[in-house]
Amino acid sequence: MVKTFAAMSAAAIVALATTLPGPAQAQQKFVTIGTGGVTGVYYAAGGAICRLLNKDRKTHGIRCSVESTGGSAYNVNTIKAGELDFGVAQSDVHFNALKGVKQFKDAGPYADLRAVFSLHPEPFTVLARKEAGVTKFEDFKGKRFNVGNPGSGTRASMEELLGAMGWKLSDFALASELKADEHGPALCDNKIDGFFYAVGHPSANIQDPTTTCGAKLVPLEGPAVEKLLKANSYYAAATIPGGMYNNNPQPTKTYGVLATMVTSAKTPNETVYALVKSVFDNFDEFKKLHPALANLDPKSMVKDGLSAPLHPGAAKYYKEKGWM
Ligand code: GLU
Repeated sequence: MVKTFAAMSAAAIVALATTLPGPAQAQQKFVTIGTGGVTGVYYAAGGAICRLLNKDRKTHGIRCSVESTGGSAYNVNTIKAGELDFGVAQSDVHFNALKGVKQFKDAGPYADLRAVFSLHPEPFTVLARKEAGVTKFEDFKGKRFNVGNPGSGTRASMEELLGAMGWKLSDFALASELKADEHGPALCDNKIDGFFYAVGHPSANIQDPTTTCGAKLVPLEGPAVEKLLKANSYYAAATIPGGMYNNNPQPTKTYGVLATMVTSAKTPNETVYALVKSVFDNFDEFKKLHPALANLDPKSMVKDGLSAPLHPGAAKYYKEKGWM
């Protein structure tokens, strides 16, 4: 039997009315962006996005917050589990998750992964203690080296490089798994000789050890890097400009990835549309919120480094803008 309002008791109607969102009770939606360590760039970029999204809350009813996390792979896995709405992920991790390869081999392809836009470049950054006597990556053999915490994109890219070089974690005297927020202090306290970190520049936790204890940037080049660049479209050669960090006046050659914003196909179109609209309608302000965002260009952000299909809510805005 189809129940009509007329057939229902007054009490039932009141009960139903209190459970339905009425106009007076504009529906408040919460979205959370998974980032990285609080001293990295993801956390700042996520904060910038939330700040702009929250500013327009009257029009969309969304309350955005950021979560500090273990990094790229953690973010993708947690979106998949339905516990995060958005996350920042390196373009290599993004690719591997979509295809179900490398660190996602056991999980299988993540067909519901959706791209939103790409962000800043993340040149792989190797820092050495001033006293470690290191000028090239190979010099770390037999030394204490931080390979990054499990769940970080840093760790995933590190393992790729070690694999291409034919190295194992046991080639280091110590392969520590400190989080990015901890690697700077550990370096200056002489607990490690160096670390690897996939990050945008400038980053607070590179500024700190280069300033506090004169830590040195180490280039990443040679046959293993050449091989990785040739085999993987998500890698590109990169240079960390000279003088970006104290005590490092020379440019440092390396390679790296792009940071990307991802979500799930299950995230509603209006939510993704509202997020991209807040960022791109206020783009000059967005670029000023962190120096690593200063050189972003919308036309590249809607395509570069994005392996997963664009979320339809994002694509709608980009089409309106004539960017695709
Ligand atoms: N790319 C890093 C990772 O996924 C995080 C960098 C950052 O927090 O800015 O491990």
